[in-house]
Parts: sequence; C-alpha cells; structure tokens
Amino acid sequence: MKPAFSRRDILALGAAGTFSPWLKGSALPDTVPMRDGVPRVDYHAHPEIGMTVDRAVAISKERGVKFGLLQHAGIKESDYPDLVSNDDELKAWIHQLEGKPVFKGVQAELLNWMSAFSKETVARLDYVLSDALTMPDKSGKMIKLWTPAFQCHDAQDFMDRYVDFHEEVMAKEPIDIIANPTYLPEALEPDYDKLWTEKRMRKIIESAARHHVAIEINSRYKVPRLAFLEMAKAARVKFSFGSNGHTTDAMGDIDYGVAMYRKLELTLDRFFQPAMPGKKPIEVRTLA
Ligand SMILES: [Zn+2]
Repeated sequence: MKPAFSRRDILALGAAGTFSPWLKGSALPDTVPMRDGVPRVDYHAHPEIGMTVDRAVAISKERGVKFGLLQHAGIKESDYPDLVSNDDELKAWIHQLEGKPVFKGVQAELLNWMSAFSKETVARLDYVLSDALTMPDKSGKMIKLWTPAFQCHDAQDFMDRYVDFHEEVMAKEPIDIIANPTYLPEALEPDYDKLWTEKRMRKIIESAARHHVAIEINSRYKVPRLAFLEMAKAARVKFSFGSNGHTTDAMGDIDYGVAMYRKLELTLDRFFQPAMPGKKPIEVRTLA
C-alpha cells in the first residue's frame, strides 16, 4: 500500500507549517526541513546581544528555517559575552535547548577550546562549528580579522598565513563545520578574486575533505564564491548554510546558500547533517 504522504511531502509540510517532522526528535534526515527541493537550515545563528532562545525559535518558525543555535565556547581567555568555558556552563547551554526545535551547537574559539570541556559533554551537542577569523599575527598575538586590530602591510604574506591557519583549524580541532571560509577583512575584500588563487583554495578544500569538515556557505559575507564552491563540490565535501546572524533580520538569512545550492545543483546527500551519537568528530577524530 502506498503511504498517504511520501517523505518529501512530509518534509515539505514541516517546512511550510507545523514543523512536526523535526519536533519529533533527532531521527535523521527528517530533521531537515525542505522547501522547493532545498534544505532550510541555518547552522550559524547566535541568540546573543538581547536575543533569547525563545525569540530565535519564533523567528525560525516565521522564516520556515530550522536553526542551529550557537554560543561561543572555549577557554576563559576568549573574549565573548556569551562564552561557555567549562562543562557546567556547556551543560546549561545544552539544557536550555532541550526539547526545542533547534540543533544544539557551539562556535568553538581558539585552537585549544577542547581543553575546557569533557569529551562526553561536547558529544551531547549536535555539532561544533569553528572558523579561522581569530588568527595569530606574525608576533603570535591573536587578532580578530573583522576588527580594527587587523592591519595588513603585505596581502600576499597574510593570505599564505591565513590559508595555513584554515588548515590548522581543521587539523587540530574536532569540528563539524568550518564557518565563514575565505572571508576577507574589509581592506582586502575588493581583491577577493585575485587573492584567492586556485592553489590557495585547493589547500583549504583538500583539508576539509581530509578531515570530513563541512564547508559553510555564508550568507552574511557571501562566501565562499562560486569558483571555490565548484572545486569543493568536485572534491566531494559537504556544505552547510549559515547566516552568522545575531539579529531578528539576519537570523535565518540563508539566501546566498540557497542560491548557491541551486547553482551547484547540490542534492541532500551533500548537505551537512549532524553526526549520529558515537560518530561525532570529538569521539572519532585523531587530531594533529
Ligand atoms: Zn559566528
């Protein structure tokens, strides 16, 4: 007997209205709502700076986009207002999201964030995301690339170190997603296509493929651009969508991701979904 609804119908129903398929729990892949053949998940949403988890859930329902909610996570030296920096704080974050129709995540900070938590607690998260946007300058001082602290005197030298740092993040951290990949500070952004040579892009993509890290298609910065994404598709890496949004308007904006998904003619098997228990990077990765 033919079921009344195909799984596609059920997923579409979930995205359009009731969200029931992913309120039911963690069975994959029904936790990913689809609309017009494209998964609707923002794995990079920050309920901070006056934004509550409940408000984020309401925005998610309004937009028909499931959210992966993040707090920053790492040792105390990481400077974020929402930082969780020990097991108890991480457990409290996980507890806060329990039973809500969201994925539970953290944005890991610095290369040594793991030292602040037990493996067991990290494994209770759906996923861990990190990026290369806080990187050491030549003296070793950690610099946030989107702040005025970033000064560039030699773009080529910076790019080589930045590529190396992307590789270091993926080799040394047990992460699921590399966020904001190929983002460039404002001063360098006009030269994006020149600075991101094929060789540089290839190094990052090969690193993502080697360590099974998904590439975020980021709608805030509209990165990576198409040439990078085409190479990543050919290298069989997976992709996620991220808004890096903190506000009502920005959270759930995955428009650039959706457009790229269509352009690349991706299929659901190429879209990141959280690893099953026992298969999380923190549980299975051998780190450099
Ligand atoms: Zn972020």
